[in-house]
Amino acid sequence: MALLVQKYGGTSVGSPERIHAVAEKTARARRQGHDLVVVVSAMSGETDRLLELARTVNPDPPARELDVLLATGEQQTIALLAMALEKIGCPARSYTGQQVHILTDSAYGKARIVKIDETRIREDLDQGRVVVVAGFQGVDEAGNITTLGRGGSDTTGVALAAALKADECQIFTDVDGVYTTDPRVVPQARRLDRITFEEMLEMASLGSKVLQIRSVEFAGKYKVPLRVRSSFEEGPGTLITYEENEMEAPLISGIAFNRDEAKLTIRGVPDRPGIAAQILGDVGKANVNVDMIVQNVGADGTTDFTFTVHRADYKKALEILKAVATQLKAKEVTGDDKIVKISVVGVGMRSHAGIASQMFKVLADEGINIQMISTSEIKISVVVEEKYLELGVRALHTAFGLDKAAPQAT
Ligand code: ADP
Ligand code: ASP
Ligand code: MG
Repeated sequence: MALLVQKYGGTSVGSPERIHAVAEKTARARRQGHDLVVVVSAMSGETDRLLELARTVNPDPPARELDVLLATGEQQTIALLAMALEKIGCPARSYTGQQVHILTDSAYGKARIVKIDETRIREDLDQGRVVVVAGFQGVDEAGNITTLGRGGSDTTGVALAAALKADECQIFTDVDGVYTTDPRVVPQARRLDRITFEEMLEMASLGSKVLQIRSVEFAGKYKVPLRVRSSFEEGPGTLITYEENEMEAPLISGIAFNRDEAKLTIRGVPDRPGIAAQILGDVGKANVNVDMIVQNVGADGTTDFTFTVHRADYKKALEILKAVATQLKAKEVTGDDKIVKISVVGVGMRSHAGIASQMFKVLADEGINIQMISTSEIKISVVVEEKYLELGVRALHTAFGLDKAAPQAT
């Protein structure tokens, strides 16, 4: 019999009926003899509601207090699920992150898990109980409640699976696996039976929100057997694998996109050593992460510098850049927060040339202008105007042969 960590996302516990359904599913696995640790998110919409609530009281809420508030979303669902399990005769106990002792650093709103104390969980499992743990939250050395960033319950699930050396970590969600791209945007998207860890890591970091990036990093570090499945229907889901067979690898496994991007340009800065460090240094000091960076070839002793940041940081970054521009006597600062990033991902790319030019041609044929490009061994990303997102993703999905076969006409 196996030790399973199951994680259920917001939609999967979004109503009392759904919570009952999760309880039934969990109890069934328990009756089959498996030991179960269940991680749950807040009910869908609840974290957003709490965020709104905080902002109505204080438009710029202190990060510590915001985490105290946000953590209550998951505290509701753990209690409700444990009640639902008890109702159907399945002994269960719920725990907050603090109670389990999921130790994190003190970076409120984006805390990292440092250590998990499994003693209490093991005791309950030995007593035959299902252990229900609140996702998305932990506690720092000083005893402050922390949260792990949006989508962070995935990371709680994988981290618990790593700590307990679980036989499998099952991420139950509202889709039945990892798809070639977001099935909400491309109805022709196909479920993948398996995806390599590296590809999953790229997909997650390039915007596919089916798994939080940190959960994938954790899974890779501890080689956690990880599967994404549907909480609504039976099925094999998608297995994340740690070995790759390049001979069999398709050229492109998936297409990711990210709407949370904004672009900034500083023109006419002196073309000399230390300038990039100075510009990005000031931006970094303000805790703004920079993603893609492009510097033009200098002419007349000056150069242009463009980079992207998270859209939420756009205004802040623009202010900083304007200040830097004055110091450096730059010509101008411009910005655009109506851009998106589209990426094609595949380990098969390593052994094939020409994917980039194929990608650019597909976009050109649709009349989509490429504003920035960045590549790595297994991905190519482009920045384009926001209005071209769906068109671009669909065209690439078709061109790289990812569409599922059309149903046979009868
Ligand atoms: P949960 O609340 O269960 O954590 P999320 O909304 O965080 O669920 O993640 C599931 C969603 O991720 C899906 O509904 C889907 O729209 C989106 N998604 C984005 N990219 C992909 C992909 N490549 N494969 C599957 N789902 C994806
Ligand atoms: N409830 C949190 C969120 O909405 C964490 C999660 O669902 O994984 O982001
Ligand atoms: Mg999620």
